[in-house]
Amino acid sequence: MTIETKKQLAMILSKLRGFHKPSERLEQYATDSEIAAETIWFAYYLGEIKDKSIVDLGAGTGVLGCACLALGAKKVTFVDIDEEALRVARENVSFLGQELGQPWDNVTFVIKRVQDYIEKADIVVENPPFGIQGTEHADREFLASAFKIAPVVYSFHKLESEGFVKAFSDDNMFKITHFWQFDFPIKKTMDFHKKRIYRVKVGCWRLEKEKTPAAQDL
Ligand code: SAH
Repeated sequence: MTIETKKQLAMILSKLRGFHKPSERLEQYATDSEIAAETIWFAYYLGEIKDKSIVDLGAGTGVLGCACLALGAKKVTFVDIDEEALRVARENVSFLGQELGQPWDNVTFVIKRVQDYIEKADIVVENPPFGIQGTEHADREFLASAFKIAPVVYSFHKLESEGFVKAFSDDNMFKITHFWQFDFPIKKTMDFHKKRIYRVKVGCWRLEKEKTPAAQDL
């Protein structure tokens, strides 16, 4: 089977498994399948997924990276600090392979802090911790790593971090080219959650490395 529409993509992503025992400290919330499909389909449409080498930073159970695989990425690397999350990601990748009839030989799982991951790629996709439970701007480290890895980054943050995303991108010679806003559904997974589903206002930014004058001349 080949994925031909955004709806098909969302459908197959909705079948993937989420966190088994999510860690509060690591802010483990899986991206909703519709939202993952929306952004990765757009990147695909821009020609940034098929045949590209992609790193999913803080991959968790792997929904973003799986979306890239489903749309024909050349190589996907799933990086997370949590071995258990990557175990689920591995199961999800193999499930996806069965569904799509693909014996993936282009997938790597790396148990590492994003701060320590340095291999270059074409694109980074990331939905990092938003710094709600832990330190403010836990997502800063993720952006800093992403900027070192690839010239194009799709990154999710709390909507209220907009100013920070802009300023930090500017400082690193990246510019914002696209932006999406979502009401992120966060299912009750932690003890301190009272409601069944929380909604958090989240943005996804597409960030692209600014061309230096010298590079433009080439
Ligand atoms: N990107 C996934 C998971 C989001 S939850 C998705 O979209 O569904 C954030 C993930 O970041 C968790 O899996 C957590 O284990 C991981 N994480 C948190 N801090 C990290 C760090 N310093 N280095 C690597 N991974 C980290």
